[in-house]
Formats: sequence, structure tokens, C-alpha cells
Amino acid sequence: MSSTLLPCPFCDGPAQLRSFPRGADGRNDYAVGCRTCDAATRVMKEKWLVTSAWNRRTEMTPAVEAVFDLHREINRAEQEMALIVNRLGVALERFTFRINKEEAVTDE
Ligand SMILES: [Zn+2]
Repeated sequence: MSSTLLPCPFCDGPAQLRSFPRGADGRNDYAVGCRTCDAATRVMKEKWLVTSAWNRRTEMTPAVEAVFDLHREINRAEQEMALIVNRLGVALERFTFRINKEEAVTDE
């Protein structure tokens, strides 16, 4: 069985096999997830189970396509929100800097 991971079905991003220590027995649990968006398989006990789950693709029906479109839309919205939050942070820093400067001037 090939362990090559197909790209993400939602965003076409690269996939990554992740392992998690299971506990005292020193063995791992596994999941496959997208490096670009938050799509991922469930955590499972066997590598081959998560890779085959990730690589299994469902037939594209209109309902499935609608779910994929929604997922892409949510990703886009999350990226836009991250940009806005970043810009707000920069604006807040500038504002704080100006306030501090004005306070320093009025203290003199
Ligand atoms: Zn993805």
C-alpha cells in the first residue's frame, strides 16, 4: 500500500502525517491533516488507517460540492479576519505610541 498522501480535498494544500504519544506503552496514535487549513482525519491507532482515510475521496455530488465550497469560503473569511486583526494590532500600537508621546509632552 502506498503511503503517499493526496493533497487536501478542501484547499489543495499539502498533507502531513502527525503522531501523538498514546501513553505509557510508548506507541503512537496518528492523524493526517492539511498544513494550510484545519482539515484533518480523526486520531486513529494505525498509520495505514489514517492515510487511507485521508486519501479516500467521496463522489462529488452537488451536496458534497456545496460543503467543499462552504469550507473554502470559511478559510477565506478566516484569512481575511487574521489580516484585519493584524492591521488592528498595528493601528493600536501606533495609537498607543502617539498617546504616550503626547503624555510625555504635557508632562514637561
Ligand atoms: Zn486544506
